[in-house]
Amino acid sequence: MSTVRKSAARSNRMIISDKYRPTYGDDLPTLKKTLSCSLSGTSDVVGAYERALAEWFGASEAIAVSSGGAALSVALFAVGVQAGDDVLLTPSCPLCTAYPVIAAGANPVFVDTRVHGFGADPNAVRAAITARTKAIIDIPMWGYPTEVDELHTLARANGIKLVLDLAHSHGTTLHGRSLSHYGDLSCFSTHERKPLATGEGGFILTDNAGLAQRCRDYSRFGNLNGKDFGLNYKLAALPAALGHSRLSALAPQIEKRRQNVQYFMSKLENHKVREKKIISGGVPNYYFLNLELLFEKNGAFIDYLDESGIPSDIKRYGCKALYEFPVFEKYRRSCPNAEGLLASMTTIPVHPDITNEELDYMADHINAYHGA
Ligand SMILES: *Cc1c(COP(=O)(O)O)cnc(C)c1O
Repeated sequence: MSTVRKSAARSNRMIISDKYRPTYGDDLPTLKKTLSCSLSGTSDVVGAYERALAEWFGASEAIAVSSGGAALSVALFAVGVQAGDDVLLTPSCPLCTAYPVIAAGANPVFVDTRVHGFGADPNAVRAAITARTKAIIDIPMWGYPTEVDELHTLARANGIKLVLDLAHSHGTTLHGRSLSHYGDLSCFSTHERKPLATGEGGFILTDNAGLAQRCRDYSRFGNLNGKDFGLNYKLAALPAALGHSRLSALAPQIEKRRQNVQYFMSKLENHKVREKKIISGGVPNYYFLNLELLFEKNGAFIDYLDESGIPSDIKRYGCKALYEFPVFEKYRRSCPNAEGLLASMTTIPVHPDITNEELDYMADHINAYHGA
């Protein structure tokens, strides 16, 4: 075993891909069949996909939409967010979670995360709630579960709605249930980088029939009845068929990610690098493995990995608290935990295309780092 590892470290520089590419051959029969059906967003093909999604995730209803961003916009409308309302969210999420809040004419109010993870801190939430607060969005990052059960209780007690941005958290669970179980509305993306990939696409899950109807009506142009307002956020039939076809591969895909993490962690020997804490009762889907870094200069370590062909989402997206970006500067609030989390971590690709040789290569390079 150790000779294999040493030769991997000595061998030529690898470039590790952070993008999983499902083999499209498996999808061809479904796609071909779909071409003879209605291809619009009101096609039966989309209805069948929605029922399959609801079943897979254990939700009462699924509403397919054109993107993860669309899912957030539809959800904010459905829970009654209007111009001038406040929407609470953590600043450690990507820009694309916060833009729909701005698009709704609402105010993003940044609340800090917990010390150990990306879930919203209940004390920060309580302190930020005012008469204007309509909703809170919680964003479990890179597929690591957050304390959405506590947020559910807190939101209910304060008469506000809990929207979950689960854009890449397909299959992440808390106490044995999909995280989506705990949200009033849960938003997913099926962009091609996500665990369930249809190119572009998204969906919303809920157990609330009234909210489901509001999502459906709004995203279908208010069903064009001339009384209800809406916009066109429908998902077309072809990506719906692709999603339906790939749903059966989602569970084995997540299992392979877990195996990759287990293998990688068994090789990791650098005592300044460890896996980020997983909350009690939670199981990540391992969209990306999150490593907590204890170096003095974590940025230098991430640069070293990048130069070794090992990509980091932190570097790729320039992750920082959203109020550090010009567009959100005027919404700045102090969130030291979120800043600390983003400054002391990196991500490692563990998707099903990653080989043991690549996992060895990444572990060897991390183990060989002796910087401060
Ligand atoms: C990808 C992503 C989105 C946006 O999804 P799209 O389908 O690209 O619109 C929103 N939030 C998070 C957390 C994401 O990862």
